[in-house]
Amino acid sequence: MILLPAMMLCGITRISAQHDEEDATHRKCGYHEYLHMLDEEDPGFPARREMIEMQMQQWLKDNPQVPGQSKVVYTIPVVVHILYYTSAQNIPYSRVTDQIDALNKDFRKLNTDVGNTPNAFKSKVADVEFQFCLAQRDPQGNWTNGVTRTQVTKSSYTINDDNLIKLTAQGGQNAWDANKYLNIWIVNLTGGVLGYTQPPGGPASKDGVVICYKYFGTNGATAPFNKGRTATHEIGHWFNLVHIWGDDNGACWGSDLVGDTPNQAVEFYGIPAFPQKDACTPDSPGVMFMNYMDYVDDAAMVMFTNGQKTRMISALNAYRSGLKTSDGCLPGVGIGEIPEVFDFTVYPNPAAGIFYLELMLNRSSDIGIVVTDPAGRQVYTRSQRVVSDLTEPLDLTHLSEGVYLLHLITKEQTLTKRIVIRKGY
Ligand SMILES: [Zn+2]
Repeated sequence: MILLPAMMLCGITRISAQHDEEDATHRKCGYHEYLHMLDEEDPGFPARREMIEMQMQQWLKDNPQVPGQSKVVYTIPVVVHILYYTSAQNIPYSRVTDQIDALNKDFRKLNTDVGNTPNAFKSKVADVEFQFCLAQRDPQGNWTNGVTRTQVTKSSYTINDDNLIKLTAQGGQNAWDANKYLNIWIVNLTGGVLGYTQPPGGPASKDGVVICYKYFGTNGATAPFNKGRTATHEIGHWFNLVHIWGDDNGACWGSDLVGDTPNQAVEFYGIPAFPQKDACTPDSPGVMFMNYMDYVDDAAMVMFTNGQKTRMISALNAYRSGLKTSDGCLPGVGIGEIPEVFDFTVYPNPAAGIFYLELMLNRSSDIGIVVTDPAGRQVYTRSQRVVSDLTEPLDLTHLSEGVYLLHLITKEQTLTKRIVIRKGY
């Protein structure tokens, strides 16, 4: 019998107009495939990797890290390049902000599920002290919301299409200065991997992380990879972390180059029960499959270790130090004098009770909508986060006929318009 290489494909490719793959049931990342690609493309790459490893070790020698001792919180400016062929692939801004929120929890040990860490490993859990911001300034110094959107003519990509993703001249989107930004490309990534990363040592034009649109963000992402951990895992690689099992194909000689993670033979999938022992760690408490650098489902990975933190900090300082002085998180030109909401219109007006608010926004805002009657009493209130220009229905059918004031409130301003309710309209 011929078996389809299902593990390679992470499910069988469905023939469809969108060239979408079946949703992944197992995590797999393209870290090693990508390293091999770079090895072949660029003869100098292996030597550069070795050099960076030495620089990281030297930095650590010069700057010994004490676990648990807070030094400084680094903020990493992020730009997300969304390449879309279908509207589903053009994920909303809220998916991007959800993802940044998830990263800021995972890297600051603020994730609500960190309590799932087994007692035996609790002392090893790190607050990595990295936080992430969506860029507010592009490489030219202009204001940005941290997202670029590019409509592409290609319905799906594999890891072999790296240039088509990362080079504008080939239909993709150029990286922003990799010394100042973490570039994340969102595409319809197929070929069985949820994402892949160029770790330190590769060309700056392709430096960053690529993630399948389905597994980016939280609300709206595809289970069981909908807690934002594909990005957490890939950014771990971006800061030169290695898979926790050492990528040694079941042997025990491989190492993740981190001292406080148990030796581990192979990757774990799904949601394993604790403990899990294997040939490399046959004794309690077993292996640390709940680490972000394993292959378990999003719901099962909850921690980085102090050793991983130290390694990431050394990578930041030895190789990605430009991030430390990047101005990518500072608002660029054009934002200071522009409020969150330019204006809004309301229609029809008069109406029997259903109005539509058309908001003209220049960035995402928390807005409050308040309606007051002629006596100044609040007769309707609501607040919400809005992420772009939109038309929002406003149901005031419960109010009696009359003249009311509609207030739209943001952090920076309050806009007021008169509305009239006339039954029978
Ligand atoms: Zn990986």
